[in-house]
Amino acid sequence: MSAVPSLVMNNGLQIPQVGFGVFLVAPDETKQAVAEALKAGYRLIDTAQGYRNEEGVGAAIAESDVSRDDLFITTKLTNSEHGYDTTLAAFDGSMKKLRLDVLDLFLIHWPLPMFDQYVETWRAFERLLADGRVRSIGVSNFEVAHLERLLAETDVTPAVNQIELHPEFPQEELRAFHNEHGILTESWGPLGQGKGLLENSRIVELAQRKDRTPAQVVLRWHVQLGCVVIPKSVHPDRMRENIDLFDFELDDADMAEIAGVRTGQRLGDDPNVFANR
Ligand code: NAD
Repeated sequence: MSAVPSLVMNNGLQIPQVGFGVFLVAPDETKQAVAEALKAGYRLIDTAQGYRNEEGVGAAIAESDVSRDDLFITTKLTNSEHGYDTTLAAFDGSMKKLRLDVLDLFLIHWPLPMFDQYVETWRAFERLLADGRVRSIGVSNFEVAHLERLLAETDVTPAVNQIELHPEFPQEELRAFHNEHGILTESWGPLGQGKGLLENSRIVELAQRKDRTPAQVVLRWHVQLGCVVIPKSVHPDRMRENIDLFDFELDDADMAEIAGVRTGQRLGDDPNVFANR
């Protein structure tokens, strides 16, 4: 098992560079999947209120031998709970399900700009941070305009923005904005969500040349861009494969080869119009 390095966020705290995502992991399979992931060496677990599997994450943590201090647990505010008081209450609900006293990272799942509440929601996040309930606060699916508004109207710069990012949709503009403002980029859908990226001939051939799997070269590309990456798999062999990224490197030509699969097309929803709550 190769050790996973950590990155430092703008608040001085560390975050493991590879984590385990549990989107679409069934609630009754989550405890087992997270237990397997901890065994495989993952220490960052990425869940969300909307995934309806926080209890399973909490149960796996409670039963694990891994010390709480070595874990990094992320959850996300669900879309229906935007607003100051609703955010505080939803946070309490998550902490009960996760069975935690302090959370490592709380994210606003989607900005929902059409409802114009994310600034008020962020003020509740700042309150949770000030009260020591959460160590770091961040956002997800925020575009440059949404981040600019938070920077202008609130006090705390998000530590992280978790966004759809993979070689087909590499998010150059948003990553540049993050770098300029000290916001860490976390890639969701890093493997292209099982929708063909890993079968792309450029990726397959590069993986063969490097004697690695397509998933490993793609995840290594994220690592070398300086992103935190949270691949999901419920298969223990793939969990191990997806974290075994730190004993090889991609050179500039390899990085360019991967960049060549860019389509500029999202696989998921557009945060500017996504209004589902
Ligand atoms: P992903 O890119 O991690 O793809 C997961 C799929 O890839 C698996 O279901 C499997 O089909 C395949 N896969 C995984 N490992 C493989 C391997 N080694 N070889 C071959 N195929 C493999 O997509 P994702 O699950 O959507 O994203 C990862 C995590 O990001 C999620 O679990 C969740 O935690 C987070 N996420 C966040 C948001 C958000 O809005 N913030 C949205 C989607 C996902």
